[in-house]
Amino acid sequence: MTTPRLVLDRIEKDFGDCRAVRSVSLDVSSGEVLCLLGPSGCGKSTLLRIAAGVERQSAGAVRVDGRVVSDARRHDPPETRSVGLMFQDFALFPHLTVADNVAFGLRRANGARRDIVASYLRRVGLDGYQDKYPHQLSGGEQQRVALARALAPKPRVMLMDEPFSGLDQRLRDGVRDETLAVLKEEGTAVLLVTHDPEEALRMGDRIALMRAGRVVQVGAPYHIYNHPVDRKAAAFFSDVNVIHGTVAARQTDTPFGLFLTPGMVDDADVEVIIRPQHLKIDEDRGGAPPPNPRLGLPARGRVERARFMGSESLIEVRMEHDGSMLKATVPGAYLPERGAPLWLSLRRDHCFVFPCEAQTKVANPWEPDRDPRGKRPG
Ligand code: ATP
Repeated sequence: MTTPRLVLDRIEKDFGDCRAVRSVSLDVSSGEVLCLLGPSGCGKSTLLRIAAGVERQSAGAVRVDGRVVSDARRHDPPETRSVGLMFQDFALFPHLTVADNVAFGLRRANGARRDIVASYLRRVGLDGYQDKYPHQLSGGEQQRVALARALAPKPRVMLMDEPFSGLDQRLRDGVRDETLAVLKEEGTAVLLVTHDPEEALRMGDRIALMRAGRVVQVGAPYHIYNHPVDRKAAAFFSDVNVIHGTVAARQTDTPFGLFLTPGMVDDADVEVIIRPQHLKIDEDRGGAPPPNPRLGLPARGRVERARFMGSESLIEVRMEHDGSMLKATVPGAYLPERGAPLWLSLRRDHCFVFPCEAQTKVANPWEPDRDPRGKRPG
């Protein structure tokens, strides 16, 4: 097994009473992008700064290529850790040319430096920009210079803190994809901090979801999205609908059918969670739609609001059984009249059932073998 490029081993960080990072262990391999994702203040940047060496942890160790660079006894400075840094404010030196900016961290003879600078500028698509100054470049171009500068010393690990958030949306997607391609080519291990779930899904080979100083879930984007560890983890990636129920004889009866809740005691409150794109809409043509085992029971409601969102439409439906509002999205333009009766059903393989409190484990009702509580609905 190859040694991970970066290991964070049981890292703790306290700022006075604030426990910013709590026993976080993570590793990143060569060529891998691990995204640290979480809400503001959850400890992402602190963890990154500890990996970089600009902050010292209260406990735990940081290793680069198997070598301890920081623990209780030693603390190597950032410049000896073989880590590259890229932040939102990419801080190019305004008085230096593009070439001098990229060459800044290189300790080589002039000729070799020139060749390295030229090769990295070519890699980021800025061949011929050597003699320009930062103020003569667009935001995206400046960001690419920052990438070339961070990569030129060939760091083993790249640490990136919201590196794309200063770019406007149209520019961002292109720069993100180009950056990812160069980093993959270089085989650099990347730890990238973001609060944007879409960015994490797009950039990450794995995502570490953080909350209140802890990592609550780590996995591939598909896994994190489709098997959230709890309601908050599900809700971090999209709006979710919550359907409440109470356990009786190891199951919960809802207007959308029964959900098995093995292991939960009678009278426990549960939440069935479903994303808006996993609700199915049928127009009311004088009766319920025909039964479909994948969808369970349909329940009726009336359109409260329908909005066109570009690639999809968002329909908010007031349910007749309890007056709750559910949100459904459908691809393209679908704008039913306010008050129109609709039947909603749940794609049951995309539902998650969690206890209302102490939500710690995923229970996907269609996945009987994955989790003791996760059984197909009865
Ligand atoms: P954001 O996305 O807003 O940057 P974050 O997840 O990166 O947030 P951190 O910046 O790591 O969060 O902060 C984690 C917690 O530690 C916060 O409560 C913050 O106020 C606190 N904190 C961070 N740096 C310091 C410091 N130097 N002194 C005191 N408290 C700090």
